[in-house]
Parts: sequence; structure tokens; C-alpha cells
Amino acid sequence: MFIEPNLEGYHRSHRHYLGWIEVVCGSMFSGKTEELIRRLNRARIARQRVEIFKPALDQRYHGEDVVSHNANAIRSTPLQSAEEMLLFTGDCDVVGIDEAQFFDEALPDVCVKLADQGKRVIVAGLDMDFQGKPFGPMPSLMAVAEYITKLHAVCMVCGNIASYSYRLVPSQEKVLLGETDNYEARCRRCFRLGPAARRV
Ligand code: ADP
Ligand code: MG
Repeated sequence: MFIEPNLEGYHRSHRHYLGWIEVVCGSMFSGKTEELIRRLNRARIARQRVEIFKPALDQRYHGEDVVSHNANAIRSTPLQSAEEMLLFTGDCDVVGIDEAQFFDEALPDVCVKLADQGKRVIVAGLDMDFQGKPFGPMPSLMAVAEYITKLHAVCMVCGNIASYSYRLVPSQEKVLLGETDNYEARCRRCFRLGPAARRV
């Protein structure tokens, strides 16, 4: 159970447009993309104008769609840099961003600008990398956000609540795209145990 910002609909009816930033974070498989798509679909139902972005780097499932692990999808615009968002968001009400951890360090400032313009900005991204360290622009983004939702996956070793993305292959690269073949969700204990974690 998590508490989501109860602000849908409020946005457009407000006398002066008031923007804000929502962050949806957590490990891989925690449901970030699902939750982002859910919030954006509801904004569309409320007839708000929605723009969705992802880093061009993330081509895992589809060139342009944002796709969740349970195959929900929404059309997005892949971008090389966070700054480009300012060019594509002129008359929209809601901005959705997925895989935010792969954007550059300008992302928090760009999100603040968009919120200052009166837009609702919903950002989903990994809070930690495969080493359990804060990932890219996510910490700064969380500092400037009004709302933060931290989601959890299920530990693939023991079934506990999982906050870590455990890399199953030996590469030390910070960015290694991939899905169930390269990563699994793990709880704190099984993440620390690494290859020694015993499957139940
Ligand atoms: P994220 O964007 O956080 O990686 P998604 O929204 O794409 O997550 O996918 C969430 C879905 O992944 C869940 O609804 C579930 O169907 C599936 N899933 C696969 N492995 C796990 C796991 N270990 N824990 C929770 N959900 C998982
Ligand atoms: Mg995702």
C-alpha cells in the first residue's frame, strides 16, 4: 500500500496553474513503469495534455514506447538530453519521464523549470544502481520533488520485500541494459550475500 498524491483533476481546475514534481522510485521489477503509465492514463482520462519521455539509451523493448514488465505500454519520445524536454513541452499539462536515472545531471533543473511553468511532472527511475549506490540524477531529483513514492519488488531468492537490483552477470559497467537474464530483484540480505544467497 502506498499513498499517492491526491491531486488529479485539481491541476486544471485551480485558479492559478500550480506545478509540482512526483518521483516514483524503487528497484527493477518494483512496478515503476506500471505506476507511471497508470498515473498518465488517468491524467488523459481527465483530458489533460500529456507528454512522455525516456532516454534514447533505453531501447530494451521498443524504440518509442515505454513498456512495463507486464507488457503495459505508452507512446513516448526518446531524447538524448534532459534539456530537449523544454522544447517538446510547450502546451502540455503533464510530463511523464521513465528510466530517469539514465538522463544527465541537468534533469532536476529541467523538472523544476517545468513545474515552475505550472506542469505536473511525474518521474520514474531506479534509485540505486547494481551496487546499491544512488543512481545518476535521482538523488537530486528526489530532493526537489514534492512527492516521492518508493515501490518494492519481491526478492527472487527468498520472497521478502526487495529494494535492490542484483546483477547476475559479472560486468562492472554502470549501465548494462537487460532484463531477467541480467538482473533480479533482491532483499537487503540476499543482495549482500551475492552468489552465496540460498534459494528457497
Ligand atoms: P519497473 O519499471 O519498476 O522495472 P514494471 O512496472 O516494468 O517495473 O514491472 C512490474 C511487474 O513486473 C510486476 O507487476 C510483475 O508482473 C513483474 N515482476 C517480475 N519480477 C518481479 C519481482 N521480482 N517482483 C515484483 N514484480 C515482478
Ligand atoms: Mg521500468
